[in-house]
Amino acid sequence: EHVDEHDLEQLAELGHGSCGTVTKEKYKSLVMAVKTMPTSSDSYLMSRILMDINVICQSFDCPYVVKCYGYFINDNHVKVCMEVMATCLDRLIQRVGPIPEPIIGKMTVSIINALHYLKTRHSIMHRDVKPSNILLDWSGVIKMCDFGIAGRLVASRALSKQAGCPLYMAPERVDPNNLEAYGIRSDVWSFGVTLVELATGQFPFHGKNDMERLIAIMRGDPPRLSVTDGFSPEFCNLVEICLQRNPENRPDYNQILNHPFLQYHMVADTNVEEWFFNVNNQD
Ligand code: ADP
Ligand code: MG
Repeated sequence: EHVDEHDLEQLAELGHGSCGTVTKEKYKSLVMAVKTMPTSSDSYLMSRILMDINVICQSFDCPYVVKCYGYFINDNHVKVCMEVMATCLDRLIQRVGPIPEPIIGKMTVSIINALHYLKTRHSIMHRDVKPSNILLDWSGVIKMCDFGIAGRLVASRALSKQAGCPLYMAPERVDPNNLEAYGIRSDVWSFGVTLVELATGQFPFHGKNDMERLIAIMRGDPPRLSVTDGFSPEFCNLVEICLQRNPENRPDYNQILNHPFLQYHMVADTNVEEWFFNVNNQD
């Protein structure tokens, strides 16, 4: 079936970010989230975007990755049509504050399964793990989106350009003299930062501006969670092992999947749908 982008009916804006705008649009009876990104004369950037789209469109078999229906490309923009979700975790913590540990546990299981799937099935790293790229739907299902700057693992080592939201970047990625050390375990760092942000409701590196925050990432002690703040020892330990300065000391996805925190929450009887429903009907 041939679909023209003019067949879409725009319903609402869902948000905008560093490389585009996301709108809610309708095609016949299907409501979708459509991400519109301007095309760029930077062919490196364009190939990144096209890789992104290809991977999402090939990931229909992964329940932890946002589904992609298709895309449109013209001289001015690329539009990617995805399934529409209720919210991203960034907006969720802005609205409700810190997320309870059992809910983070379920989120963690989905995030790690998505990252592990991308690595084993498509040989890519995500490169932009952060709360705004983790989405939640009305039935409590958590999925990852935006492999906008993901690249094939092998190819990525040869690339010297920096990419990504710098604030979630691992220290080895921030340091321009150290691009070699940039691999899958940089995503593990960003995952650790994301966990602390979900647990505390705040981005864990402080500073008056992004430059000061970047200095904190490079020079300061990595953030930690503490049992004295009511977090379980397993949760504190997971954060601690992921947020290590030396990437080689960080766990890989198999190790994380086998970590007691994940093992517990994989089978725990936590109702994310009910929690999300209650949070939305409080005020
Ligand atoms: P960023 O991830 O850098 O914040 P994006 O352009 O990727 O910027 O996304 C902007 C916002 O659009 C996100 O923060 C999220 O709230 C929303 N969004 C993105 N994709 C979807 C989707 N599939 N369903 C619902 N909302 C979405
Ligand atoms: Mg995004």
